[in-house]
Amino acid sequence: MYVFVINSGSSSLKYQLLDMDKRQAVASGVVERIGETMGRITHKKYPGQQNEAKTSMDMPFPDHRVAMDQAVALLVHPEHGVIASRDAIQAIGHRVVQGGETLVQSTRITPEVIAQIRANFQLSPLHNPANLVGIEAALELFPHAPQVAVFDTEFHQTMPPAAYLYPIPYHFYEEMRVRRYGFHGTSHRYVTREAARLMGKPMDAVNLVTLHLGNGCSMAAVRQGRCVDTTMGMTPLSGLMMGTRSGDIDPAIVFFLMKEKGYNVDQMDAILNKESGLKGICGKNDMRDIHEAAAAGDERARLALEMFVGRIRKFLGAYLTVTGPLDAIVFTAGIGENDDIVRRMVCQDLEHLGIVLDEAANAGRKGAATAVHAPTSRVQIWVIPTNEELEIAQATVAVLENSL
Ligand code: AMP
Repeated sequence: MYVFVINSGSSSLKYQLLDMDKRQAVASGVVERIGETMGRITHKKYPGQQNEAKTSMDMPFPDHRVAMDQAVALLVHPEHGVIASRDAIQAIGHRVVQGGETLVQSTRITPEVIAQIRANFQLSPLHNPANLVGIEAALELFPHAPQVAVFDTEFHQTMPPAAYLYPIPYHFYEEMRVRRYGFHGTSHRYVTREAARLMGKPMDAVNLVTLHLGNGCSMAAVRQGRCVDTTMGMTPLSGLMMGTRSGDIDPAIVFFLMKEKGYNVDQMDAILNKESGLKGICGKNDMRDIHEAAAAGDERARLALEMFVGRIRKFLGAYLTVTGPLDAIVFTAGIGENDDIVRRMVCQDLEHLGIVLDEAANAGRKGAATAVHAPTSRVQIWVIPTNEELEIAQATVAVLENSL
């Protein structure tokens, strides 16, 4: 069975076609600069496990429907394609960022579901409208294929109220659903499932702390396979220090800066989302550049790294109080999978908590799931490459199987 996974952004469209009999991608691509005078589509097909064939084209994409149509044209193309016709696509899975409190699990897309995604625009003004544009384009192009929405927030829906409510007047929750939702849920759920499989345990029997460390960063406390707390909040701005996002700060800093500097809401938003985090401290937001600068003696780069790791360790300590006896720590995403220095710093001097890294196993980038704990470590430490598209495709298949 082929499942087409779509991640639609405001001016971009990422796609992947997965062969679910083999649980692997056969083609993927990205369309960029949709709506501009000139855009680009970059398409890859994977004829074998090890090799890939890449092609790219510059052309205008006036809207997401044209972009998706071109992606599908490449999927069925005699040279670049991997399937004979678009009818081979049997289901479509859509990433939707915010499910709110009404869309708490992956669901078949119906007019009611679309209305609920729209109702959540207020909570996710940047992402949900863009996700819906992708859904509407796919409904037009594939009127007969079943379509499923998979939400970034759904894995975190098992948090108890004490973890998801903010200590602000309760009526803001009642009136406007102001609460913690958490994000990267598809990634946290995928690595939770994989970690359980790799440890030979059922998913509902594992206690984990999962660390999604990429451009955006978040952690989840997982007790018996269910999320009980996470670092991102009502928006993806809170929690850990990130590439350009501040993560948690004293909220009064916002009023202070607005008052003293005269910033308006949009300026403050841009400062905390785009100019803060690693970039705010050392001017760089890519961890590779920060290591290079730190190694060359740049004190700010060293400080940024220390702050980044320090915040991860604080949450790790906090989450030990809610996961129950910890089975494993799981690192994933760009930094989690590739950065052995960050992994070493996170796990340093935690022997008293039963967390001991194996330096040799940890060294280098990890292209596949790898255990990196020492034989003496009570808590296992895993690096598991995330695969959000596979998780979306699996959820899509599960929804369709259950609705038969
Ligand atoms: P993601 O958002 O998961 O794609 O992660 C992107 C981030 O991963 C980049 O901004 C880098 O900071 C980081 N990254 C990627 N490769 C490496 C590497 N080899 N070493 C350190 N950081 C890396």
